[in-house]
Amino acid sequence: MKEFSGIPVSPGIVKGKAFLYLDDSQNVPKYEIRQEDMVREFERFIEATEKAAAEVLHLKKSTKGEIHEQQSRFLDAHLLMLNDPVFSDQVKDNLEKYKQNVEWIILKTVGDLVDSLSSSQDMYMRERAIDFHDVSQRVLNHLMYRERISLKNIPADSILICHTLMPSETISMDRRKVKGIALEVGGKTSHTAILARAFEIPAVLGISGLTDYVNNGDTVIIDGYQGKVIFKPDEETAAQYETIYLSWQKREVKLMTMNKLPAETKDGKHILLKANIEVPEETESVLSHGADGVGLYRSEFLYMQSSGAQSEESQFEAYSEVLKAMRGKPVTIRTLDVGGDKYVPGLLLREEKNPILGWRAIRYCLSELPLFKVQLKSLLRASVFGDLRIMFPMISGIEELDQALRILDEVKEDCAREGHKFNEQIPIGIMIEVPSAALTSDILATRVDFFSIGTNDLIQYTIAVDRGNEKIAYLYEPFHPAVLRLIKNVISNAHEVGIPVTMCGEMAGDPYASVVLLGLGLDIFSMSAFGIPEIKQIIRSVKLSHAEELVGAILEMRSSVEIDRYIKDWMNERFELTKFT
Ligand code: PEP
Ligand code: MG
Repeated sequence: MKEFSGIPVSPGIVKGKAFLYLDDSQNVPKYEIRQEDMVREFERFIEATEKAAAEVLHLKKSTKGEIHEQQSRFLDAHLLMLNDPVFSDQVKDNLEKYKQNVEWIILKTVGDLVDSLSSSQDMYMRERAIDFHDVSQRVLNHLMYRERISLKNIPADSILICHTLMPSETISMDRRKVKGIALEVGGKTSHTAILARAFEIPAVLGISGLTDYVNNGDTVIIDGYQGKVIFKPDEETAAQYETIYLSWQKREVKLMTMNKLPAETKDGKHILLKANIEVPEETESVLSHGADGVGLYRSEFLYMQSSGAQSEESQFEAYSEVLKAMRGKPVTIRTLDVGGDKYVPGLLLREEKNPILGWRAIRYCLSELPLFKVQLKSLLRASVFGDLRIMFPMISGIEELDQALRILDEVKEDCAREGHKFNEQIPIGIMIEVPSAALTSDILATRVDFFSIGTNDLIQYTIAVDRGNEKIAYLYEPFHPAVLRLIKNVISNAHEVGIPVTMCGEMAGDPYASVVLLGLGLDIFSMSAFGIPEIKQIIRSVKLSHAEELVGAILEMRSSVEIDRYIKDWMNERFELTKFT
C-alpha cells in the first residue's frame, strides 16, 4: 500500500483500477541504428509520410463543405509540410548525425523546429509550430502502427493516472468509464478540475512522481475530499474508506432535501443559486440540485468536443436544447472563450508564448469575425426557446465591449433581414475577470444588463499566479485583500446603476467564501451543480446583517493569512463544511 497527498479538486470517494495515460511523446522508443540499415530507416519515414498525406487528403474530401474555411487551411498547411523537402532533408541529416531510429529522429527534428518557430516574432511562424507538432504525431502514428491513443476506449471503472490531462481530452473521454482522476500537475481552478467537478468524477491533482510509481491495473482509492490517492490499499484501509464514503453519502442525501426551498437568509434576503455547465447533458443535474438557472454555460466545450469551428445549426441545436431543458429558467451562455489552457484542436490556439495573456476569448472572437458572427446568430435564433442571456468573456475595457456590442447589432440586423425570430431585448452581460475591467466597472456598468465576476481568472491576473500551476497554488488566495477590494468595487458600481452581479468563478461554490460574498452584496452565486445544496444550507442559516459584520471585520485586515484564518474560524464555529475546499 502507498498513499500520496495532493490537491483535492473534485469531491467523492471511489475505488477502481489504475489506467496509466501517457503523453504520445513519452511512448516513442529510442534505439541505435547500424549504418547499413540507414537507407531502410529513411524509407520507413517516406512511407509513413505518404500514408499521412493520403489520410489528410481523405479527411479534406470526406468533410468537404462541412468544415470551416480555417480548418480547411489547417489541413492544407499539413499537406504542405508533409511534402516539404526541407523537412525530409532535415530528418535525413539527423539520421546520419545521431544514428537513432527514425521515430526518435522525428521527435528531435520537430522539437528543434518547434523551438525555433515558437520564439519567432511573426505570428504566422508561431502558428506553423503548432502544425509541425500535429503533423509529426500523424507520421508517428503510421510509423508505430498505432491509432492515436484515445480515452474513448478505456476499460470500465478506470482511475485515470496521468502527468497532465488537457481540457480537450477530459471533455472527449468516455465519462461513464472514468471513476476517478489523479494527475501530477494542475490546480483547483484549472479547466480539467472544473470538468471533473462538472462530471462528478472525484479528482486529486498536483502529485509529483505518480506516473513513475503506478502500474496499469493497480487497485486505487481516490479520496477527493481530503486529496488522498491510495495504491493497493490493505483491507483495513479499504474498509475505513467504505465507512467514510457512507457517511458522506448520508450527508449529501440530507442536503438534497432542501432542493425546493429558496436560498433566503434568516432576515429575508433572497439570493439566486445557479449552476455552471460545460455540456448540455448537465442540465439534468442542474435541475435535480435545485438550481435557479444556468449562470454560466461555457460554450467553448462545444467546439472542443468536435475539434474546431461549429456550424450555425449545431450550435443552434445545442443552445436550444439547454433552453428547452431549463423550462423557462434563465440561462446565461458565454460566447467562445478559447485560449489560455483551453486549446481547441483546429482553431490554432497552441504554442503561444504567453497563452494566459494571449490571443483568447473576446480578443480571439473580435479578430475571427465570421466565426463570432455564426455563434451570435445561433444564440439569437435560440433565444425564442427560453430566457437566454448572452455574456462576453475577458472584457478588458470599454472599446472591446463597444466593438462586441456593435457586432451583435449587425448580427441582429442580419437575423431580422433573413426573417429569423429572436428576442430583440436579449440581456447582455460581461465577465469581470480582468483587473482593468474590475477597476473600470463603473464605466462598463452603464453599457450592459449584468456583470458576472470570474474569480478564477480575476485572482490569477490580480495576484499574477497561474491558476493551473500546483507549485504556486499556495499563492492563489481568494481572500487576498486586493481580490476582496476588487469584488466589493464591482458590486457597488453595478448596484449604483441598478444591475445585478453574479459570481461564476469557483469562489462562488466555496462554502467558506459564501457568507463573505453574501455580506459583500453578491446577488447570484453560480457554481458546479452539486455544490448548490451546501451553499443553500449556509445561506438559510445566517442573517445578512451578520454577514455584513463579518465583511466589515475582514476589510479592516491587512493580510490574506489573517483574513483566511478569521473566516475559517468564523465558519467552522457555525458549520460542518466539506473539507475539499
Ligand atoms: C472565471 O474565470 O472565473 C470563469 C468562470 O471562467 P473560466 O473558468 O472558464 O475561465
Ligand atoms: Mg475565465
